[in-house]
Amino acid sequence: MAIAYRYDGTVYLAVTRRCTLACTFCPKINGRWTVAGNDMSRDREPSLDQLLAAAEALVERTPERFAFVGLGEPTLRLDVVTAAGRRLRALGHHVRLVTDGLASLREGRDVAPELAGAVDMVDVSLNAPDAESYARLCPNRYGGAAHAAACDFLRAATAHVPVVEATAVAVPGLDVEAIRRLAEALGVPLRVRPYFDPLQGEPHEHRAA
Ligand code: SF4
Repeated sequence: MAIAYRYDGTVYLAVTRRCTLACTFCPKINGRWTVAGNDMSRDREPSLDQLLAAAEALVERTPERFAFVGLGEPTLRLDVVTAAGRRLRALGHHVRLVTDGLASLREGRDVAPELAGAVDMVDVSLNAPDAESYARLCPNRYGGAAHAAACDFLRAATAHVPVVEATAVAVPGLDVEAIRRLAEALGVPLRVRPYFDPLQGEPHEHRAA
């Protein structure tokens, strides 16, 4: 697994390839593990020191823009993400977390306060306007509870992180305007990410969010 790579002005940091979801639009779920020319398939997770060394090796300016992404769910290694985020922010860099928003559900506690001071921005993959379509698009072991948990996390994160936004991939047939209305009701903007055929096109914005 590539630990860090630069794409379009951002340095992306991959801490795990494990996921809570199995999104139908994900290239990984469809057997494609290459992101921006990097092979993300190797099943070895970096230590905090390895992650920081890989990140700092790619610094070209201060502030640099860093983002914790996949192909995996960064909060599965929340301690590493928050420790690395604090360190990078202390060096003057901008840090963003791209997450499925299910960490609190998974951990059984509100983890949003742990992001305070560790990240400047969080992107939560809201993905769908309701629990049923969410579970269809992003199968997971929590079923209908997952969508509600992502909504709760969006609300909670706004109290601890300066910038919070919801995202959704423009999967054909998805009611994007309904997701936008939901995001607005949650008090956050929605950013729509382009859809790519996971079997043929470029990977989605886990590499270019
Ligand atoms: S889209 Fe993201 S959260 Fe969904 S399976 Fe792929 S890497 Fe995991």
